[in-house]
Amino acid sequence: SSSSLISQLVRSHLRSVSGYRPGSQPPPGSPVLKLNTNENPYPPSPRVLEALHHLDAEHLRRYPDASAQIFREAAGHLHQVDPDWVIVGNGSDHLLSLIMAAFVDAGDRLVYPWPTYALYPTLADLQGAQKQAVPFPKTFDLPVQALLQARGKVTLVAAPASPSGTAIALADLEQLAQRVSGLLVIDEAYGDFAPSSALALVRASERVVLLRTLSKGYSLAGLRLGYAIAQPPVIQALNQVKDSYSLDAIATLLGTAAIQDQDHLGRNVEKVRRSRQWLAQQLQRLGCQVWPSVTNFLLVRPPVDAEQLMLDLKARDIYVRYFALPDLEDKLRITVGTDAQNALLCGVLADLIS
Ligand code: PMP
Repeated sequence: SSSSLISQLVRSHLRSVSGYRPGSQPPPGSPVLKLNTNENPYPPSPRVLEALHHLDAEHLRRYPDASAQIFREAAGHLHQVDPDWVIVGNGSDHLLSLIMAAFVDAGDRLVYPWPTYALYPTLADLQGAQKQAVPFPKTFDLPVQALLQARGKVTLVAAPASPSGTAIALADLEQLAQRVSGLLVIDEAYGDFAPSSALALVRASERVVLLRTLSKGYSLAGLRLGYAIAQPPVIQALNQVKDSYSLDAIATLLGTAAIQDQDHLGRNVEKVRRSRQWLAQQLQRLGCQVWPSVTNFLLVRPPVDAEQLMLDLKARDIYVRYFALPDLEDKLRITVGTDAQNALLCGVLADLIS
């Protein structure tokens, strides 16, 4: 059949690789309460929609600025780095792909603590790279020595961690940065919610790449805008493998408006923090174990079977993420919603758990 013809044409190392699948997407307009992909429940800065209204036909007729200069200048200003230390992408997922394309040959080893963002092993498979998952302890403290011993071409650490939502100690990242072989990628997708950033490590080491996204703290997952901060040699290598126009004119303009409104970000993050605290307390009252999160989601071990609970919630139009974790203690990862959404969730959970 034609499909077997095409499967013969697909690059051989890809035939056994299944691509990354994010959490289920309910059909548009459905009443689902979607707490499975860590979107921010609160709206982005009003300046983002204002910028949208200021877009004119010229912005769309012409190619966008290939380097997204205005965004890189705003990001450079925000983080106190030169714009030449910044590169933008279509979400931070895109920057992870650029890192693979620029630095990882077939057979090179990708190293990461596990469990983590499930895209990392998929990227290794797609690249034909080796991968080494170094187990986290139950506390999700970074296993620094084991990560160093794995000697990766690229070592990837999500900080704050996912799915735990816990902070990664800066001292651990610093040790890793000082002694790592190859490149150290610190994925701060949830960094806007966290009390600290590893930015200083980028200044101290050519090997460190920091990833940030507008998808979480800035409530712009639909815009697809992420950026990397690193010293110029890394940025140049990433630019070499990037498409000419990886960031469209709309994302460049709207993303710039978003990061220029730090007051909105601060209020947004504070609301999420308060909602998170309330949700964590209620979940504990229902007999759940809850990891100490610095993000907009919670890792939760319920007092009943986690997979069944996920399915029961889904049957009631509430989506959460299920993780079959290696220590056999299956868990749920629940995005913090608005206060009303969290109350609804807890009401349903009270029914299902009792
Ligand atoms: N890193 C981590 C740890 C994430 O959880 C996510 C989003 N799920 C991303 C990166 C990608 O974010 P985006 O592509 O939306 O910037």
